[in-house]
Amino acid sequence: MMAQYLALREEAGDCLLFYRMGDFFELFFEDAQKAAAILDISLTSRGEHAGAPIPMCGVPVHSAEGYLARLIRAGCRVAIAEQTESPAEAKKRGGSKALVARDIVRFVTAGTLTEEALLEPRRANVLAAVCELRGSIGLAACDISTGRMELEECAADQVSAALARVGASELVVPEVWEGTPDGAIGRPSRDFASETGEASLKAIHGVGTLDGFGMFSRAMLAAAGGLIAYLDHVGRGKLPLLLPPEVRSSGTALAMDEATRASLEILQSSQGGRKGSLIDAVDRCVTGAGARQLADDLSAPLTDRIAIAERLELVAWLYEDALLREDLRGALRALPDIGRALGRVVAGRGSPRDLGQLRDGLSGGRRLHERLGRKGELPALLARLMPAMAGHGALVDLFSRALVSAPPTERGQGGYIAEGYDASLDELRKTAGNARRAIAALEAKYRDETGVAALKIKHNNVLGYFVEVPQRHADKLLLPESGFTHRQTMAGAMRFNALALHEEASRIAEAGAHSLAAEEAHFEELIGTAVAARNAIAATAAALARIDVAAGQAERAAESGWSRPDIVEEPCLEIEGGRHPVVEAALAAQRERFVANDCRLSPQDRLWLIGGPNMGGKSTFLRQNALIVLLAQAGGFVPAQAAKIGLVDRLFSRVGASDNLARGRSTFMVEMVETAAILAQATERSFVILDEVGRGTSTYDGLALAWAVAEAVHETNRCRCLFATHYHELARLAETCDALSLHHVRAREWKGELVLLHELGEGPADRSYGLAVARLAGVPAKVVSRAKAVLDKLEKGRAQTGGLAAGLGDLPLFAAAEAAREEACDTLRERLKDVDVDALSPREALELLYELKRET
Ligand code: ADP
Repeated sequence: MMAQYLALREEAGDCLLFYRMGDFFELFFEDAQKAAAILDISLTSRGEHAGAPIPMCGVPVHSAEGYLARLIRAGCRVAIAEQTESPAEAKKRGGSKALVARDIVRFVTAGTLTEEALLEPRRANVLAAVCELRGSIGLAACDISTGRMELEECAADQVSAALARVGASELVVPEVWEGTPDGAIGRPSRDFASETGEASLKAIHGVGTLDGFGMFSRAMLAAAGGLIAYLDHVGRGKLPLLLPPEVRSSGTALAMDEATRASLEILQSSQGGRKGSLIDAVDRCVTGAGARQLADDLSAPLTDRIAIAERLELVAWLYEDALLREDLRGALRALPDIGRALGRVVAGRGSPRDLGQLRDGLSGGRRLHERLGRKGELPALLARLMPAMAGHGALVDLFSRALVSAPPTERGQGGYIAEGYDASLDELRKTAGNARRAIAALEAKYRDETGVAALKIKHNNVLGYFVEVPQRHADKLLLPESGFTHRQTMAGAMRFNALALHEEASRIAEAGAHSLAAEEAHFEELIGTAVAARNAIAATAAALARIDVAAGQAERAAESGWSRPDIVEEPCLEIEGGRHPVVEAALAAQRERFVANDCRLSPQDRLWLIGGPNMGGKSTFLRQNALIVLLAQAGGFVPAQAAKIGLVDRLFSRVGASDNLARGRSTFMVEMVETAAILAQATERSFVILDEVGRGTSTYDGLALAWAVAEAVHETNRCRCLFATHYHELARLAETCDALSLHHVRAREWKGELVLLHELGEGPADRSYGLAVARLAGVPAKVVSRAKAVLDKLEKGRAQTGGLAAGLGDLPLFAAAEAAREEACDTLRERLKDVDVDALSPREALELLYELKRET
């Protein structure tokens, strides 16, 4: 056994090995120590290896899923070694001492789960593969629980943004690659070949060319190759459900980098959970599939005005018709998750219950189709989804006839194929039923014959059917002429067999075995039918999810008076009465009111500098506007009275370093790296929020950087931007930057107390209220009054010297400095254009170089 174990252990590589022994999965050696610690189960030992006891722990097979889930969550991967023959078979093969054959039947990893118990219903579970091919990056991502697959190509510096959007729970990369992100799993480089990727995709989908699915680049196909090879490895040659791949081309989604996603807390709050995130405040989906689709929408909002308008039209339609919406949501709520049931069926782990779910989900889709069909003219998007819900008539009919109404998850006991579906199966069941009745009749007969009223016919798995009488009445049955044969003596009872009983019991057993086999055969056939229809079933699942998302968004909008945004081309952002959905919900829980605020950016007034006291609501205002853009481009209503939004191509959100402290990567360096990315990437169509940039360094450095960044955003990027800062001195930028305006969050001091109004006002902030905030926060009065004395001194000094920004009056504008530099470059370019390099002698070249250097 040790030899067999060690061979399997070797094959399991860096996975924990679950070694099946009867009703348990056992772990040994270091696996046992690691698993026992994570699972908090007792560590024992068994036998010896190399003179030392072997550590061991085990989990019961019937409850293995829960343990697996915890191991996966703790970052482990698990190889499952099953017994591939029964002990009886082993004996037949190799005598009484023969070892049962075992084999690793699959690997359980975070990205390749299909078990319902291990998956979160409202979250996609994504496996991704990334590789590099001649300078471009291919990314393949799939959710094997539903089969969705997506391919993308991007530039090397966009990998982390793309991965952040995908949010994979497991990532595979070629084992030799410098770009390997943390935690990625290295796989043989030869797996990542575009030819194999292409060939696998063609084979999986049974097509001669992939053109029908989209245009795939070599890098995409190489990544697909790596992904499919890994799935093949993990499933031991059995591939899960994979739908035709979709191309995710750059530019079709609102671009957001990792830092922006984190700071906007889209799918996860900064604390890490879903609570406090945008999706938590928005999601009113009634199905898991809807919630997964919504997460996808929010991760990749659209940039195509027509596509956004279509989604909005559907939301508006459902928003206006509250009755229909309720009706639809009620119907959807009752539907099982057919996408995931299909995933299990295709992965070979489907149960009769999964088939029942497909039947119920698909017939639910058909009913919805019928209901919507009576509505007259439908919104375009819905009209396009309708056909996907209509089909499956034959399949639903077949499954309805074939399956009982609530099929079990286990098929070992049979009983899931409905009566009337198969006459011979019915016949077998009838035989078994008759025999059972005959046995019941025998009990009465035997009681009569023996005169033992306490005689019973019982059944257990070891003996099958037997007659049992209390010990003191056993004598009569022990007589040879009684017709009973003794089988077992228990404390206080004796068990017997009888010929007639034996005959009926064999009839039951035989009929049972045959009907079980018949049910198995039907099951395989039904599975085959579902597998053959997998793409169409997935399309139905997608259509239902899309409707759920739209109805959920309409519901959310109706709940708190959200409105339909108007999406336009020109780069404006006009939000009337905008609100932050998460902060508003948090305040509502404390019975406090959220103050709505307007935002009006346009090409003429595209940079708002926002000052005012700490805790005044600056960050909230910045973020709410970014979230409104995101929600709108995801195709939903927005928390505002009205919103006119010029399509945004890239969204950036940056938070000053100290706000990030909690996340433990607080360095000023990070802040500057992120700021650099904005300055390099933001376009005239982008929307940027900058919160306290420059805060992470000394006052002079910080002010200088904030100043230069604001100027550059204004002059060079020319994007829409909200810029929150506590540097009053920046207000002077308004004198030189004509598309920049000053705003502040308002506050009052009232009877010595600070009152934060959370209301946006025009013009610069009048003062900073820092001391008042300190008092509000409970800093002792003595300290506050000391600070007041210091402040008075400082302010006096400022009045005399002109303060921090003294001397900035004659600073040439960023644009002017830039223009001077550009001009110098132009002269250089002019001069170089006329030089015939091949005609220059080395000496002449050197002289030219000196000359140019003198001139610039
Ligand atoms: P700042 O960025 O100016 O320091 P925040 O935006 O972080 O301020 O807001 C601080 C707190 O003020 C929030 O946690 C919230 O409780 C409250 N707040 C912010 N904006 C509003 C608003 N518009 N209406 C009501 N309360 C608000």
